[in-house]
Amino acid sequence: MKEIILIKNGELVLKGLNRNNFEDTLIKNIKKSLSGLGKFSVKKAQSTIFIEPLEENFDFDLALNKISKVFGIAAFQRACVCEKDLNNILENSVPYLSNILSNAKTFKVEAKRADKRFPFKSPEICMEVGGHLLKHFPNLKVDVHNPEVTVFVEIRDYNAYIRCGKINGAGGLPVGTAGRAAILISGGIDSPVAAWCMAKRGLELNAIHFASPPYTSPRAEQKVKNLLEKVAEYSGTIRLGIVPFTEIQEQIAKNCPEDYFTLIMRRMMMRISEKIARQRNCLALITGESLGQVASQTLPALVVTDSVANIPTLRPLIGMDKEEIVNISRKIDAFEISIMPYEDCCTVFTPKHPKTKPTIEQCVLAEQNLNIEELVNSAVEQTVYSYIG
Ligand code: ATP
Ligand code: MG
Repeated sequence: MKEIILIKNGELVLKGLNRNNFEDTLIKNIKKSLSGLGKFSVKKAQSTIFIEPLEENFDFDLALNKISKVFGIAAFQRACVCEKDLNNILENSVPYLSNILSNAKTFKVEAKRADKRFPFKSPEICMEVGGHLLKHFPNLKVDVHNPEVTVFVEIRDYNAYIRCGKINGAGGLPVGTAGRAAILISGGIDSPVAAWCMAKRGLELNAIHFASPPYTSPRAEQKVKNLLEKVAEYSGTIRLGIVPFTEIQEQIAKNCPEDYFTLIMRRMMMRISEKIARQRNCLALITGESLGQVASQTLPALVVTDSVANIPTLRPLIGMDKEEIVNISRKIDAFEISIMPYEDCCTVFTPKHPKTKPTIEQCVLAEQNLNIEELVNSAVEQTVYSYIG
């Protein structure tokens, strides 16, 4: 009995002339995510991708888990490959479905005949297969409205396939089809979620993290790497730049009015990030900001942060509540890492009364004693790069 994985493309079926490009990127991403699982072949036909293992002991469960994290997939499932012959389908159906059906009470069969030359119409296929299964599994009854198990029989160009239900894919668009952007990643809950949201829309990710040793510990950096590993399960490899930020924070603490510490720090982050992003051909920055969540995320505060960067900042969480963000964080298995207590650079030198309604002019004045260009260039030069995932 031969088993394969059937993958249905998601949103990308809508993309007209770009479709081939999208499909090719999706296939490339699927191959990458399954690399290390042994040899397999990949074919595509009619919005479906077929993964066929070419080695014994292919780990289907692990493969399905990996595929569930590839963006651009609407649904997927393992399936039994049959000859395009009703008897062969019947013969395969019992052993293939035996595990699931011997423990079920109700089922139904659905059939789809993409190849109209197949001598049986869909309702006939359902009748035949359904009747055959009922004979072999006395525990079963047919329930067409609310079955415990739905068996699908598909007749396609070269083969017929039997599968049980379908698994919803991660949705979104294949990573890489929307270009590249840089996520400003902290060790918090929000930025990994923001990274995931934008990878879901097809962006390839670079990451930038600001570290202020000895105020921040090596464990805080490791935490960021662990978070990015979770994101990379979906986004593929992420290039991370760790920016030394201690000098800048100390200079801000020494030379600027306290109320503005956080805002000026964020403006410095944006300036440095823009430079790094441009070097890496990233067309935008991404942050985990959510409107009003903290003093530095009021609309006036966002205006003064934005005003120093000549590159768009994508803020996918801007309209989300904390609860919605936490739900995604849990879904991608990042939450438990995010709530570990290691300090981020944002929590050192925090003002007692942060400005919530700053203006650009006030900020320019507050940072007038900083040698901004020199600090930015030096931080960019000393940034240390590594690859995650
Ligand atoms: P997060 O949960 O992502 O840390 P937050 O709610 O704590 O977000 P802030 O600390 O104000 O908010 O940071 C806002 C955004 O700035 C973060 O979502 C992230 O994109 C970026 N950021 C904050 N700290 C850092 C850092 N140390 N390195 C890189 N980016 C950072
Ligand atoms: Mg934070």
